[in-house]
Amino acid sequence: MIYLDNAATTKTAPEVVQAMLPYFTEQYGNPSTIYGLGAEAKKALNQARRTIAAAIGAKQEEIYFTAGGSESDNWALKAAAEAYSQKGRHIITSKIEHHAILHTCEYLEKQGYEVTYLDVDNDGLVDPEQLKAAIRPDTILISIMYANNEIGTVEPIAELGAIARERGILFHTDAVQALGQVPVNVDELNVDMLSASAHKLNGPKGVGMLYIRTGVKIRSFVHGGAQERSRRAGTENVPGIVGFAAAVERAMKDLDGKMKKETELRDYLISRVENEIPYCRLNGHRTKRLPGNVNFSFQFIEGESMLIMLDMKGICASSGSACTSGSLDPSHVLLAIGLKHEIAHGSLRLTLSEENTTEEIDVVVEELKRIVAKLREMSPLYEDFISKKGAK
Ligand SMILES: *Cc1c(COP(=O)(O)O)cnc(C)c1O
Repeated sequence: MIYLDNAATTKTAPEVVQAMLPYFTEQYGNPSTIYGLGAEAKKALNQARRTIAAAIGAKQEEIYFTAGGSESDNWALKAAAEAYSQKGRHIITSKIEHHAILHTCEYLEKQGYEVTYLDVDNDGLVDPEQLKAAIRPDTILISIMYANNEIGTVEPIAELGAIARERGILFHTDAVQALGQVPVNVDELNVDMLSASAHKLNGPKGVGMLYIRTGVKIRSFVHGGAQERSRRAGTENVPGIVGFAAAVERAMKDLDGKMKKETELRDYLISRVENEIPYCRLNGHRTKRLPGNVNFSFQFIEGESMLIMLDMKGICASSGSACTSGSLDPSHVLLAIGLKHEIAHGSLRLTLSEENTTEEIDVVVEELKRIVAKLREMSPLYEDFISKKGAK
């Protein structure tokens, strides 16, 4: 099997599993209890919080553990909107956010908030000038993702965050695709809130965190016990949190080396596809891009068909249609960067990890060449295109 869907989820690293195991077995105490067993769990929890805080330049009391990226995004938007509703009811985000942000915004619109969805350019970049122009006296919150999960474009968060700060507006970033892939520092980025998720960086599924800068007013998300400074009740997912911290530690150990390796492999894959497969288009910014992200549109064919044929060869990838929702609509991200429906439908996302090799990429390119040619052979659109071209 060749796994090229690391933006969907990643393999839990063996050392992460090892770090978690004792907290399922001997160290099963509840961190809220006062006897030794609970104290051990509490210690592990505090240590994990320190590790993650240090990795993003935050204070440990600014890290709140959640059940993943979607929960963190929901919490940041809903609770901040509520807490600041006296000041105004206008929120700004972008058209290429993850559904955890977009659907939360739609929910907030039903609650009487107004949301501005910023356009992006053909590479998927948010324009700081457009952000400035969208800000109103009643704007209370801006949420722009750090890096896009489909096309890999990395947004100018430090610049956007500075604009928000200058005007006294809360700034949140969904950094789920960024943490462990590119440097993340909450002060350098000028952010007030930041979401992350363990399973996107070789940690376990179902655990994430929301960074909330000291001084930010925000409502509790889960009401109940006093866990997470009374803001997110519920007995902590101790093994998951320990695994999250182990994954962060692992990713930070040689982030530069990992980025360099993945970037080289990414650019090798991009150049081979561009040189060897006609009528394709690279989606996302060429350089302001996650080290492991490759996204192409292939004219005249369907992404879904490519996925099925790649799967038959043991290659895991992802396409540009919202197949998860059962709809055949092309992805909102590909439409936002200006792709026509039929082009967006022929999209393929390949996301790398540092474990992928040049040999694997060579296998994938050869398969892709074969698959694209075969699908085009069966495509009436392609036939039409070629006959018109011949007629000229
Ligand atoms: C995966 C992802 C999420 C959701 O995270 P979960 O932990 O799966 O809930 C949110 N935002 C982005 C950008 C993602 O890639």
